[in-house]
Amino acid sequence: MFFADYHTHTCFSYDCEENPESLCISAIKKGLTAIAITDHYDCDYQEYGYPMVFDVKAHKKEIYRIKEKFKGKLDVVHGIELGQPHACPDIAEKILKEGNFEFVLASQHNIKKLPDFYYFDYTKVKENLLDAMISKMLKELLELASFKGIDSIAHITYPHRYIKSAGSDIDFKKYYDNFEDIFNLMIKNNVSLEINTSTLWKGCGFSMPDEEIIKLYYECGGRLVNVGSDSHTAENVGDCIMDTYRTLKRIGFKTVISVTNGEKFAENI
Ligand SMILES: [Zn+2]
Ligand SMILES: [Zn+2]
Repeated sequence: MFFADYHTHTCFSYDCEENPESLCISAIKKGLTAIAITDHYDCDYQEYGYPMVFDVKAHKKEIYRIKEKFKGKLDVVHGIELGQPHACPDIAEKILKEGNFEFVLASQHNIKKLPDFYYFDYTKVKENLLDAMISKMLKELLELASFKGIDSIAHITYPHRYIKSAGSDIDFKKYYDNFEDIFNLMIKNNVSLEINTSTLWKGCGFSMPDEEIIKLYYECGGRLVNVGSDSHTAENVGDCIMDTYRTLKRIGFKTVISVTNGEKFAENI
């Protein structure tokens, strides 16, 4: 049975120390059949004064080495989590060309010219400011959904993780029209929706996006989904993926996507 974690990090990411081999060994122990190693490259961080170190060549070499090493036991996919490509398209295109990745997850960790959503203190952000931030994020997600060369959009409700962690919450219902526009564009461009389980295994009680938004995507006609733990340690690889497959099936999905040798397939769940 297909059991894949399509969003994982290793020591090639600036915020992770995990060894890629240890990650694969843990995935095999947990019964996974495939993982995509999607290390971070945030295209606009350097422009805003933060260093972004991602050795594309060394990463590729290492991922292809372990691909061979675990052949027959675990399908290892050479991926990337590309942050804000729409903010710095030239940089993004260069990285995509250099890496020739099998699977490109696209993320929006920040609004253009602002810090990562992670850095805001949501106990102090007033409702009208939060509304402005979410509206801006959704507008930029339309640009992201149109970016050429991406396969999937990761954690489409990314600030939800931090808003909830701060003891607050947000009702996304008022933004459903915006989500519909984004989903229609993703469907048109063959960009799949990631269901990110990090909020589930961290105990927030919802995935990103949550079940209601996944239903909205389904109602829009969206059928391309992939599930990822966003694990930054071997310990969390694969966490809450099976629960999420069950949620997807309840909604009506029959398959999730897989990538092999650059080709996409539908895998029964
Ligand atoms: Zn991310
Ligand atoms: Zn990630």
